[in-house]
Order: sequence, then C-alpha cells, then structure tokens
Amino acid sequence: MTTPHPLVDQFQRRITYLRLSVTDRCDLRCSYCMPERMTFLPRKDVLTLDEMHDLALGFIARGITRIRLTGGEPLVRRDMIDLVRALGRRIDAADGHGRLEELTLTTNGTRLAEFSEDLRSAGVRRINVSLDTLDRARFAALTRRDSLPQVLEGLAAAKAAGLKVKLNTVALKGINEAEIADIVAWAHGQGFEATLIEVMPLGEVDEDRFDHYLPLSVVQDDLARRWTLAPSDHRTGGPARYWDVVQTGGRLGLITPLTNNFCEGCNRIRVTATGQLYACLGGTEQVDLRAALRSDDPQAALSAGLDTAMRIKPARHNFAIDRRGNAPALPRHMSMTGG
Ligand code: SAM
Ligand code: SF4
Repeated sequence: MTTPHPLVDQFQRRITYLRLSVTDRCDLRCSYCMPERMTFLPRKDVLTLDEMHDLALGFIARGITRIRLTGGEPLVRRDMIDLVRALGRRIDAADGHGRLEELTLTTNGTRLAEFSEDLRSAGVRRINVSLDTLDRARFAALTRRDSLPQVLEGLAAAKAAGLKVKLNTVALKGINEAEIADIVAWAHGQGFEATLIEVMPLGEVDEDRFDHYLPLSVVQDDLARRWTLAPSDHRTGGPARYWDVVQTGGRLGLITPLTNNFCEGCNRIRVTATGQLYACLGGTEQVDLRAALRSDDPQAALSAGLDTAMRIKPARHNFAIDRRGNAPALPRHMSMTGG
C-alpha cells in the first residue's frame, strides 16, 4: 500500500521512524542522564496508553514504518506490555490502515527477565539495552542503583527468548574508558551487537558532563590499535556508523553526534510521554500532539500537527559540548525524548 500523505520535511527527508517515550520515569539514575532527585512529570500530564496507541496509529497512517518505544525506562510503566501487544498487531498488517515494519524497544534491562518472552510474542524482534559497565561497583556508582545482576539476568532472558540485542554504551572519560574494549568483546561473545555513544549535553545533572566527555574518535583509535576494524556498509537509517571487528566477529556501531554530524539523512521524529512532538533531538521545535489527541477530531488534528512538524523540522541540531561549566545545550533531559 502506498501512503496517501507521507511525511516529508522541507529538506526532502522522508520521515519513517518514530521514537515514542512512554514514560519519563526510571528505576535507575544514570549520573549523565538525570540527577538523583529528578523531578518527574505529574502523572495527569502523561498520555494514557490508549492515547499513545491512537497517536501511534495516526503516525502509521502517515507512513511511519518503525516505532521504537523508549523512556525513561519503558518497562517500568504499568501495563506497558498491552501497548506493545496492540502495536505488535500492526506489524505487517494488511488491512489498509498502514503497516508497521518494525517495533523495537530501548531499555536499561532491569525488567527484561520478566518481559522478554512477552515482548517476543508481541512481535518485537530486536531490542537495544543500555549498559555502560560490567563492573558491579562501577554500575552502582554510575546508575546510583545496585542493579547489574538484574540487568545481566535480563540480558540472558532476552537472548533465551530469541530477541536480537544491541548493547548501547555511553563512553565516559574516567569512568568506563578503560573498560570499553572489554564491554565490546563481551557483547560480541554473547552474540550481541555493540554501539558506543558520545555523552550529549541534555538537561541539568549533578555533575559537569564535560568532565566525562570522551570523543569516540579517541576510543576508535584505541580499539583500532587492539583490533582490525573493517568499515561496514551496514545502515539502519539511524545515526550510527558501523565497523566489523575482525577478531571478535561482531559489529560495532559508533554514534558521534558531537564529533560528526549525522543530520543529513535524518528519518526520525520524537514524541514525549506528554505527547510533545520534538522535530529534532537537539532542537526546541515542537508540536503539542496531546492537545490534538484531546480535540474533537483527534485524527485530523494529529495529521495537521504532523504537517506542522514537517515544516519546522530543522536542517541539523546545534548542540556542542565544549566548555567546562556550560549550561546544557537544551534544558530537557534525554529521559524525556528517549534518545
Ligand atoms: N532507560 C532506557 C535506557 O537507558 O536504555 C531508555 C531511555 S535512555 C534516555 C536511552 C539512551 O540514552 C540510553 O542508552 C542512555 O545511555 C542514553 N543517554 C541518556 N542521557 C544521555 C546523554 N546525556 N548523552 C548521551 N546519551 C544519553
Ligand atoms: Fe534511566 Fe535510561 Fe536515563 Fe539511565 S539512561 S537514568 S536507565 S532513562
């Protein structure tokens, strides 16, 4: 089926990928992501799961073919699996209301032991799991929770359920810097893909992110001294660039928003748990889709909101992490937009 009104922005980029944050709450407190005493959104402001479902259907009708559920921690939201099941029914649906090709999830892994089987049977095939260290004490210090055993158990459950796992690791100077190669080797040994991410200046935290900013160009040079990194033409439509690590036989992705701009091929749009559409992870351009959803003609208002988003989506993000003590480039935390 061809989509009657596909989402194409003013730079002729076709938008096919939605990242939907289902909650801003989380059971961890990664120090680069949020402060210990994080103020979460009042529950009344957050979309209900039914509203999120309607919202997703509106996007699918406009040609969104991939949805990633994220957060905060998506699996801490009560009954979240019902939304996964409902959206899972849109995968390869042939009823003329739009077809989803893929439903994925980004999670910290703490609840995967409980939900992996359900995710798989709902139609999820791939998940991203964030893990920045394999050292229990370091994990407890970095996330302010002693949950590494739970995460490792969750990863084992995901593997056993047949979910393809990509491990996401934020590279942090002076924290996990010396461990990155071991994490990549471990991931590849488990049959997981590994992706490294540069820390981004989003939202106030209890520290200066500049202290821990580690350019991936440095990490890559280090890994290249240890291993043969063969450039891969694998692409996911996302910002990562890939290498095949000859010695481990695994794939390595590098996401370098700060050292290397990835905006030209952007195919995505983000919606927060309160229904705010952000046209760019690094920008302030937004459309209030909650108002659209709560209007008299939600689907028409939603579609009009998406047209607005296509008009305001900027050519590129403009954040940089360059000076010690700088305020974050954007006041909102990554846990709002889900990365
Ligand atoms: N709680 C889930 C998780 O951790 O996977 C999903 C949401 S979390 C905000 C998504 C990703 O954003 C994680 O991989 C996390 O490491 C990353 N992240 C959070 N804050 C970040 C920041 N300031 N810079 C770069 N990555 C960040
Ligand atoms: Fe929670 Fe994910 Fe942020 Fe860590 S990165 S505090 S797990 S939302």
